[in-house]
Amino acid sequence: MNQIEAAINNIITDEMKYCAESEGVPPEKIRSDVMNGWTVITKNAVRDIKPLAIGKGLKTKVNANIGSSGDSCSIEEELEKLFTAVKSGADAVMDLSTGGNIVEFRRDILKNCAVPVGTVPLYEAFRPAMETGGANDAGFIDKFDPEYLFEVIERQCEEGVDFITVHCGLTLKALKTMNLQTRVMGIVSRGGSLIASWMIRKNRENPLYENYGRLLDIAKKNDVVLSLGDGLRPGCLCDATDRAQISELITLGELQKTALEKGVQVMIEGPGHVPLNQVEVNVKLEKSLCNGAPFYVLGPLVTDIAPGYDHITCAIGGAVAAGAGADFLCYVTPAEHLRLPSVSDVKDGVIASKIAAHAGDIAKGVNKALDADIEMSRNRRSMNWEKQYECSLDPEKAREMRASLPLKDDKVCSMCSSYCSIKLNASFK
Ligand code: SF4
Repeated sequence: MNQIEAAINNIITDEMKYCAESEGVPPEKIRSDVMNGWTVITKNAVRDIKPLAIGKGLKTKVNANIGSSGDSCSIEEELEKLFTAVKSGADAVMDLSTGGNIVEFRRDILKNCAVPVGTVPLYEAFRPAMETGGANDAGFIDKFDPEYLFEVIERQCEEGVDFITVHCGLTLKALKTMNLQTRVMGIVSRGGSLIASWMIRKNRENPLYENYGRLLDIAKKNDVVLSLGDGLRPGCLCDATDRAQISELITLGELQKTALEKGVQVMIEGPGHVPLNQVEVNVKLEKSLCNGAPFYVLGPLVTDIAPGYDHITCAIGGAVAAGAGADFLCYVTPAEHLRLPSVSDVKDGVIASKIAAHAGDIAKGVNKALDADIEMSRNRRSMNWEKQYECSLDPEKAREMRASLPLKDDKVCSMCSSYCSIKLNASFK
């Protein structure tokens, strides 16, 4: 019996109990929210990890993308990124490997990862086509075999992948809608552009949409969460919230309903690049059109002109999205749009998104979210530096920074030194 079936039968599973305890909410809330499709529990039935609940009224979670590319494919480096991401607070990791032996990479990541792992099976499914057709010629797209895509999905689910991105809502109709308008960036989703290219070249419907029932049967077997991808997400601010994006979102809402009826857990992926004043409306639209399903946003990035600092543009959008009700933030690193992230980029990206998630949790009133800030303020007031480090999202950095300038008075820090207002405050109490 999977999580939805248990929830419908009024059974509170061990996974629901664990999630309730780690969130500080009643187990009954997790059960009923799973039943309604408002919360998902990410944990493949064959994996020995702690389950992770994502959804309504729960702490906003953070995902870190790692994985090789055609230009950089060292498993040692990707494993270092994995350990760094988890140590820095990532709640889940997606293996987006596209270069080297991606099957072995995934197995190594699954073996070494203590948190839920997600993938985009389309990447592996297109590999044979790319290898035989030549990666530098778009003609390789013609060699894609939809049957092989389902084989890949089945194998990944059996191996223990906890959630998969599947671009089921990118239909011929949605592509037609996109072509009726002018987009600056077209399709920027990697999986979205691969499947759309095949659909256009072959004039065929998306196999993930056409054979959605088959996909649901595969996901249901191991209780794999479907992350319904937004293949038509905007790739720049001026493409945000356009007809194509919303047309796909409407389809995703219909597919979410079908999945729930079949006992498959679903979350919905969202943009991308969005002006700050449209972030909240994007969250509200998803909640309304997709029946309250958990919303998993990439960023969103609130400006296009900060390459090298996109972890910051992402954190600004992520905080507003989380505050408005987004449930899961996909990090963006400073290397976004420039190169594959390094280990230190991964750390910077995770910390930036953790800040956004926490700020959002305070705004939306998540249970006890403000407690950590109150604790930090008390420790600041009492000038207890060790405790301040303990409360920090990045204790290592906080400790190193304070120690990097010599102090005349080790009670204070070098920012105000003898003019330390906290010390002065203490003197007149
Ligand atoms: S020196 Fe200034 S910044 Fe440092 S603890 Fe005192 S008031 Fe705060």
